[in-house]
Amino acid sequence: MKEKKGKLQNNKQINGLRRNKLSFRIAFITVISSLFSIVAIETVYANMKGLIRNYGHIVDVDYTISEYMNEVMIDIYEHQAVVFHHIAEQKKEKKTELKENAKRVEDGLKTTMKDYEAIVRSTEYETGYHELFSLMSAYLHNVDNVMDLSGAGATQTAHYTMTTKLEPIVSEMNTHIVNMDSAIHKDIENLKTSMRESADLMRIISRVLMFLMILATVFNVSYCLRISDEMVSRDLLTGVANFDQLIRVGEKMKRRKKNRLTNYAGLAISIKDFKFINQEYGSVIGDIVLKNYAATLNGYLQRGEVIARNGGDNFIALVEKDRAEAFFNQISKVPVDVGEKMGLTLTSRCGIYQINEDDSIYDVINACLIAVGETRRSGANDYVWFRQERRDEMIRQKDILSGYHKAIEEEEFIIYYQPKVNLKTRTLCGCEALVRWIRNGELVPPNSFIPVLENDGKVQELDFYVFDKVCRDIGDWQRRGIQPVRVSSNFSKLHLHNKQFVDDVLAVVNKHGADPYYLEAELTESSGYEDLDAMKYFVSEMREAGIHTSMDDFGTGYSSLSLLRDIDMDVIKLDRTFLRDENDAKEERMVENIVRMIHDLDRKVICEGVETEEQVEFLKRVGCTMAQGFLFDRPLSREEFEKRLINPYY
Ligand code: C2E
Ligand code: MG
Ligand code: MG
Repeated sequence: MKEKKGKLQNNKQINGLRRNKLSFRIAFITVISSLFSIVAIETVYANMKGLIRNYGHIVDVDYTISEYMNEVMIDIYEHQAVVFHHIAEQKKEKKTELKENAKRVEDGLKTTMKDYEAIVRSTEYETGYHELFSLMSAYLHNVDNVMDLSGAGATQTAHYTMTTKLEPIVSEMNTHIVNMDSAIHKDIENLKTSMRESADLMRIISRVLMFLMILATVFNVSYCLRISDEMVSRDLLTGVANFDQLIRVGEKMKRRKKNRLTNYAGLAISIKDFKFINQEYGSVIGDIVLKNYAATLNGYLQRGEVIARNGGDNFIALVEKDRAEAFFNQISKVPVDVGEKMGLTLTSRCGIYQINEDDSIYDVINACLIAVGETRRSGANDYVWFRQERRDEMIRQKDILSGYHKAIEEEEFIIYYQPKVNLKTRTLCGCEALVRWIRNGELVPPNSFIPVLENDGKVQELDFYVFDKVCRDIGDWQRRGIQPVRVSSNFSKLHLHNKQFVDDVLAVVNKHGADPYYLEAELTESSGYEDLDAMKYFVSEMREAGIHTSMDDFGTGYSSLSLLRDIDMDVIKLDRTFLRDENDAKEERMVENIVRMIHDLDRKVICEGVETEEQVEFLKRVGCTMAQGFLFDRPLSREEFEKRLINPYY
């Protein structure tokens, strides 16, 4: 099985979302999430800046440490200078001043060391500080000794001690400070460099990330649009185009400079007996069948052609017009795999329409649907070209249905009465009420609208409309002193599905106070009574109420005799087909026997459609004594019929 890769993927269900709405939502969500991501990057960047600030602080501290160390050294050298001065000085008063000076410098030195200690605590330079502190303590400790020696006049010993013992300590302190200082400066330089590097790196990274983010957003949006487009244009089960997409493609073809739609034929395709597959194998297998069937059909298409699913097992395709028949031949029998061991060969039905210049895509779809509808008629081909008359018929039916409600409301329906005649006495013995539609000033016969209303389930209302007028007229004639005859009114078989039918009939009779004796309900035999029980019930209830029942068009259905046996109707109305050949002896014998049988069953018989005296003679010969037909009267307006009631002789 050829399957167009990528085209026929299953999409998850996203029902009801329209294309733009969906696209907008996805784009909105994507943009929002990208904005969030950008904000996140910005936050990282801001944090980085905070970090850099902290590093800056560390650098500041290092510099301060360095400054303290220098100050310590300066103080030491100053102190040392004062001490040397003290040693060298001979005058007592000057010595006291120098001693105070030395003390002041020493205090200053200690304060600096305290601050130094405070700032250096818990840093990597703490050990260096302690070393410096112990050197300094050693120095200060010995200085007291030197001062005492100098004060006591042992200048030389003091000078000696100073240079031999204390100078190396000072020099060691100096070296220590210089080493530490350069270590600190080196650290600071390294720190600065790494800080600058990581800041630069961070900036580059964040810019790259932002760029990627924008790229991802753009990609996402376009991807989402494409996906949403796919989802709203494809059928969810089969993956072929959906109906909306077909309309879009069709309209686009038509909009082209040279209407491209006319290069194609429209095909409505469905699977024959798909219902059976669903019933027999279940809907899961049914779905697989549909998917594979659609994939096969799709595989047969050529560039520029399209197939769309129109619900259920119905597909519509636009195929190049020269290929339309060949395409149908290709798909008339479609093998599909259902499971590992199961395969089916499906037969397709197809209605084909050759597209014209003026057609819209909707016209095309309508036309090929009408054509495929034709294939369902009994004995029809599986492949049918569209016939214009069929569309006209549909338009006519639509027109009837759309005008019907207004017609009921505005009483456009009127009742005609067709007399029934007793052939022995040639007098009026009853009549049938027949509806007519006065539409736009014209009289429309019932055969052109009753079947349409019946198909659409609307005829019941009309039957009651007629029956209502019949009951009203009977009451009216009685009030006016005109002797009525029994009037039969037609009721569609659809009423038999209604449990209220009997009650509804009786309600109308009671409403007008009509005498049931003058009423008869006609049910057509040819329409086929599926529900015999409902019919039996209706007939017996009518009998109970004193209303006659009759079987219309007897002889046109398939089960006439069994109906005759099972349903106890008062009157049988022979269809006018019994009058086909009144000179045929065989026919005469047959009709004679039927009439006798009806009489034997204690029913009355009347023949419809009597047009000639020969037919009257024939009926008399076969024992049928009542007739209805143009020979006596056509269906008459109420006024005309009243004249017949007053003068009932023929
Ligand atoms: P139907 O009930 O069998 O009515 C008899 C039809 O035969 C009437 O046609 C009548 O005009 C016609 N007819 C009578 N005599 C002759 C004749 O000598 N020659 C020919 N060629 N025709 C004759 P109409 O009035 O056009 O009604 C046609 C059908 O429409 C009726 O057939 C009936 O089935 C249906 N119909 C009429 N009114 C109603 C109604 O109120 N409700 C329902 N459900 N159906 C109705
Ligand atoms: Mg009738
Ligand atoms: Mg009839």
